[in-house]
Parts: sequence; C-alpha cells; structure tokens
Amino acid sequence: MIKLSNINKHYSTGSHDLHVLKNINLEIGAGELVSIMGSSGSGKSTLLNILGILDEYNSGEYTLDGTLIKNLSEPKAAKYRNEYIGFIFQSFHLLGYKNAMENVALPLYYKGVSRKERNKLAIEYLDKVGLKDWAEHMPSQLSGGQQQRVSIARALITNPKLILADEPTGALDSVTSKNVMDLFREVNKLGITVIIVTHEQDIADLTDRQILLRDGVILEKEELNV
Ligand code: ADP
Ligand code: MG
Repeated sequence: MIKLSNINKHYSTGSHDLHVLKNINLEIGAGELVSIMGSSGSGKSTLLNILGILDEYNSGEYTLDGTLIKNLSEPKAAKYRNEYIGFIFQSFHLLGYKNAMENVALPLYYKGVSRKERNKLAIEYLDKVGLKDWAEHMPSQLSGGQQQRVSIARALITNPKLILADEPTGALDSVTSKNVMDLFREVNKLGITVIIVTHEQDIADLTDRQILLRDGVILEKEELNV
C-alpha cells in the first residue's frame, strides 16, 4: 500500500539546512498495524505528514496504492487525502463549538452529504467507538479518552484505507491509552492499515511491527537486536 524509496526531507531556514529524513526506504502493506518510534525531534511527525500528503519531500518517491505522490497540486493532494486517509492527533483537533456527533459528521459535510444522512452515520460511528450516548456532548464535557474516540470515529466515517495517528495517546493516562490502542486494533482488524507514531515503547509493543526512526534514519526493531 505504501512504498517510500530514498525519501529525503530538508528544512531550510535562511542559511541553515536541517536534513530531517535521510534516504528513507519503507514498505507498509495493506492491513498492517505499524508503529513509528523515535525520540522527540527524530522526524516522526515529518514522516507521517509526508505519508498523509500534508507535506512534501525533497527527493525520492512515495507511492500510495500504486499512485505516485509527488509534486501534487493542492486540489489533487486533497482529493487523495479525502479518498484514502484518516488522521488522528495527540490533541484531538475537535471543534469546541460543535458536539460529538457534529464533529464526527464534519468530513461528510465537505463531501456534500446531507445533514440528516451525515448525522445518522455519525451516530453509527459514535456507537462503534462506544459513545452513542454522548452524541450531544460538547468536547469540553468529554474526558481525553472520549475525545480521542470521537476523533477516531471522525477519521473512520469516510471509510479510509489508511489511518495515520500522531502520538494519539500522548495526552492520555496509561489505562485510557490501552483502551484507545484496543480500538486501533479493532479498526485494523476491519482491514484498515494503521500507522501510529509514538515515543512510548509500551504503546509500540501493542502494534504488530515497530519501525524506529533515529536521527532521520529508519531501523526495524529486529535490526536493533543484532
Ligand atoms: P518528531 O515528531 O519526531 O518529534 P519532527 O518531525 O516534528 O520530529 O521534527 C524533526 C526535526 O525537524 C526537528 O528538529 C524539528 O525542529 C524540525 N522541524 C519540524 N518541522 C519544521 C519546520 N516546519 N521548519 C523547520 N524545522 C522543522
Ligand atoms: Mg512529532
């Protein structure tokens, strides 16, 4: 599903050049549940943003489901994002003035689905994450774990093939983190490819494959043990 070949990413500020991703080669198959581990500043979010077509790379090739993702116009990038990808963030990114149902329904608004239909589907997806009875609650009335469930329901409602999560448990206590990871495992069992960025080993241990990013270079966990 995902193939990265010799991906390099630099950030240039003035005369300063930061080489963040160094010759990244990586393949992730459809249906995998993968974690990308690494300490702060190792390039995890940069890599995830490239995978999510939110950011560009300087050289190499990224193919997603057979499509070369390179130098896309913003409308094309948005089209592929909407078609393939659901995003989950550490800080949930819910709209504070909309209730749980409306937040989950939002991606369908951008697809032109009627209010009635999108609210009905939003309730179904809230049910899938165990929050049907919380549909009318505002984000401020929900715990962190519940807010993250809402954001997972919002990511799922467009039927993505790929879920990208950047430190999804970073703001949660360990019990809630475990519950959210169980939910990712359930999502993955439906056949959706899930990639989770984390700097916590116990979170990575709940995935099927661990990829380590160290100073912009990729290592698989097995390679670390040799
Ligand atoms: P991680 O998610 O692993 O903490 P990031 O991918 O966010 O790491 O960042 C990797 C490096 O790139 C860091 O040194 C960071 O300061 C730098 N960086 C990230 N985004 C930018 C940017 N937009 N402009 C310049 N430097 C950046
Ligand atoms: Mg990060």
